[in-house]
Amino acid sequence: MTPEYNRVLLKISGEGLAGSSKIGIDAEVIMTLAEDIAQVSKLGVEVCLVIGGGNFFRGAKNALAGMDRSVADQIGMMATVMNALAMRSVLQSIGVKATVYSGFSVPQACESYQFEKAIRSLENKEVVIFAGGTGCPYFTTDTGAALRAVEMHCDILMKATQVDGVYDADPRFNSAAKRYDEISYADVLNKHLNVMDMTAVAFAGENNLPVKVFALNEKNALLNAVCGKAKSTTIK
Ligand code: UDP
Repeated sequence: MTPEYNRVLLKISGEGLAGSSKIGIDAEVIMTLAEDIAQVSKLGVEVCLVIGGGNFFRGAKNALAGMDRSVADQIGMMATVMNALAMRSVLQSIGVKATVYSGFSVPQACESYQFEKAIRSLENKEVVIFAGGTGCPYFTTDTGAALRAVEMHCDILMKATQVDGVYDADPRFNSAAKRYDEISYADVLNKHLNVMDMTAVAFAGENNLPVKVFALNEKNALLNAVCGKAKSTTIK
């Protein structure tokens, strides 16, 4: 297996850790993902990771009545920190060096995000987990992932989803839906293809960050995608 990239940022949603229950963290699911990341890292690929928080809390969706959106988003950002801490532990348990940098500071639990330190960690072959999204409310971890991928000079943002790419219609409901091998940022935005939030797609486009959309639904999914052996769509 030969990797196509030197440095990648993998974005998974919080639900990607939850398994079938969609809530919390499933021990088997997180271990399978950690093993996949470990294999990619062993090939010499520098791996950044962003995990969402939707398995615990999404600000816009789960805000309680009367709760300010900014507070709800703070809870969401803390959810991403919980996922990052869990993943750090699991990676460390299988011998992978991993550091969490959070844009939303929780100094007792992990490093606060600092560009310089994060770059050094990557050069030191640590898996670098970015938690806390952008650190600001009204954003999502897709946008946080695109931001950190650009800052870290990643070759690509690997966006893991339930589906193996971007389709012209939802393949779960339309058997005639066609998958794009490649698609432009502008087409994703203009056709309202619901693959990442619009801010993230626009930001990636402005910064020429390619985004590979692939399915994280089997063992070695990341390894295969990084080595060009998985069905996917590249947004560029
Ligand atoms: N969030 C935020 N700012 C950010 C990133 C995330 O306020 O820069 C909050 C927001 O409430 C969001 C939640 O954290 O709903 C969890 O992130 P996201 O919804 O992106 O998680 P995912 O859908 O990827 O699991």
